[in-house]
Parts: sequence; C-alpha cells; structure tokens
Amino acid sequence: MNKIWLSSPHMGGGEQKYVQEAFDTNWVAPLGPNVNGFEDDLEKYIAHNSKVACLASGTSALHLALVLAGVSNGDEVLCQSMTFSASANPIVYQGGVPVFIDSEKETWNMCPHALKAAIEDRVSKGKKPKAIIVVYLYGMPAKIDQIKKLSEYYEIPLIEDAAEALGSTYKGQKCGTFGDFGVLSFNGNKIITTSGGGALVSHSEESKQKAIFLATQARDNAPHYQHSEIGYNYRMSNITAGIGRGQMEVLDKHISLRRANNLFYKEIFKDINGIEVFTESSSDYYSNHWLSSILIDENQIGFSREDLRLSMLEDNIESRPLWKPMHMQPVFKDCLYYGSNVSEKLFEDGLCLPSGSNLSDEDRERIKEVILKMIR
Ligand SMILES: *Cc1c(COP(=O)(O)O)cnc(C)c1O
Repeated sequence: MNKIWLSSPHMGGGEQKYVQEAFDTNWVAPLGPNVNGFEDDLEKYIAHNSKVACLASGTSALHLALVLAGVSNGDEVLCQSMTFSASANPIVYQGGVPVFIDSEKETWNMCPHALKAAIEDRVSKGKKPKAIIVVYLYGMPAKIDQIKKLSEYYEIPLIEDAAEALGSTYKGQKCGTFGDFGVLSFNGNKIITTSGGGALVSHSEESKQKAIFLATQARDNAPHYQHSEIGYNYRMSNITAGIGRGQMEVLDKHISLRRANNLFYKEIFKDINGIEVFTESSSDYYSNHWLSSILIDENQIGFSREDLRLSMLEDNIESRPLWKPMHMQPVFKDCLYYGSNVSEKLFEDGLCLPSGSNLSDEDRERIKEVILKMIR
C-alpha cells in the first residue's frame, strides 16, 4: 500500500511555466522577475498595507525580524513554547535569550495571561523583553488582539510566526499582518511550497528594503564591495519564486481542501467521546487547517495518541504527535518558562493526522478504517 503522508507537496500545474521563463531569460539568480512577482502576489493576497520580502526560508525570515527588531547579545525574547524549534532558534543566532510562554486551550497558541505575567515579571527585574514571537499552530489564529494590545502597551515589538498559517484570518484580517513583522514559510510540507523558502512581512517600504539589503550581504552603495554592517545570504532565488507564483494560483483551492479534511475528521469523531478534533472556537477565527489534529483522552477512550499513531503506521499512514514544547526540549532546558501545564498536556494527548490537499477519496477511506478499527 502506498504511503499516506501527513502533508506533502501538491503542485498546481502552473509552476513550470514560471520556472521555464526563468531559464529562457537566464534569470537563474537570487533576484529576478519571479521574485518581484511573487512578492507582489503575496502583498495583494495578505493585504493590510503589507510589504513582503521573499527569503530563503521561514527561519531566515524570523532571524531578520529579530535583527530588525533590534535584538542583540543578552536580550530576552518572549516566545510561544508550543511550536517548532525554528521559532526559537533564531533568538539564539542573535545572541538573545529565549523566555518561553505557555499556550491557552482555545487556540493552542500563546496565552495572553501568561504573556502579561511574564512581561511584568521581566520588567520588574529590569529585563524588559526586546520582542514577542507568537505562533499560529497548524494554521489556527492566536488571540492576537489581546497579544497585540500587550505588545503596544509595553512597547515590545511583535513578531508573528505565520509559517503554518498563510491564508488564515482573525476577524477577517490575514495572519502575519497584525504585528511589526510577520513570517511565512514555503517549505515542502507547508500549505504552498517552493521546495524551500520563506518571506518577511513588514509594513513600510523602508523595512522591506532593509530586509532585502541584509539578505543580500549588506552591500553599501559603492562600485566596489563595501560593508558597514553584517549581512546574510538569505534572498530567495528566481527559480523557487517561480514555483511560488504557480502555487499562488492554487492557494485558495488548497485551503478549501485542507478545511474539507478538517470536516472529514469532525464527521468521523462526532459521536466519539474521548476524542476531540481541533477547530475554531468562534467565527472570529478562520484557520487554513494546515494540519488537522485531535486530542485523545486516554482514560475515556482506552488508547493513547501513541497507540493510534503506531496502528496508523502499520497501515503505512503517517501521523505525528503535536510539537513538543520548547521548555521541555533538552537544548532549552535552562530557559525560563511562564505558564502552567497547558502545552505539556496538549503534547501528551495530541496527534496530527494526514492533512494534505492532495489526499484522495481512497486515502480518506483507508484513514477512516484504521481509526474506526482502533475505536472498536
Ligand atoms: C515551518 C516552520 C518554520 C520554519 O520555516 P522554514 O521555511 O522551514 O525555515 C517556523 N515556524 C513554524 C511554526 C513552522 O512550522
């Protein structure tokens, strides 16, 4: 039986035309018409006065967001604990110190109360944080209005890690456009992919140009190579941007297919006590449902998330535990953490299920059968 992946690349068909154009015109470089075109497409799509700089990855976009926010040696940065390590690693690249914040149960994202407690405690100790990194897990918008209020009140720059949430909205506004900086990813398993790539969202042409300057080795305006700042090689190539332009043509279709997967799982589990499908708590939230996930109450249903994961694997179906919180990771074990045990509990009980926009009806049948067998 063929492998059913958690989330795999799904080409729309238009990608090769843009890549061919790049070859035909010899724009095989980390700049060119596809890069500019992809940036325009993204700016129109996420709207809200966004300026987009396309980069090599979401991780490099996070790194540049921290550079632009002024984070440097010894500065503390508040970061959602429940996330992929790429949200936190760039803090360390910058010489900063991550301070992790718990999630709340409704969106699984940064808890505004824990955030407030952390800010007040750090400020009282003379260590005012230099930035806040909030994440939109699996495409779910966070309680961003409350988080943004805290960022504004305490004047701490807000970075949104929207790597998983392209197309998701909170009260109609696209994720990635609320903060000082937003981060997108086009890695192979994301809702659209360029094979690898990312983007930094900001709200002024000046910030965008500064990001591009830093991403292209920080060359001063001179005929020779002259540098007054440390630069990076973080720009997106014109070839990968061509794939991105083609993927933009199918983004909304991919979102509706992923949202249909979420409905499919809700239907399977609707009468099952002890398993809950992660979904929006109100119409304020609109998730792209990049990955559909469930919480398994082992006491009630009699098996754990690991039991279900292994039985799916036996049928060659990939599923995966939720992100293991950063404050539980060996590499971050000495970092401060504010909150209780919400993210720990989510990690224990949660499982991400196959969610690709390219799942077939037969794939869904196979998935459903394994799950129902397990429940019986
Ligand atoms: C994928 C991802 C990233 C990193 O993006 P890359 O393009 O793979 O560097 C960062 N944060 C989150 C939450 C992600 O899921």
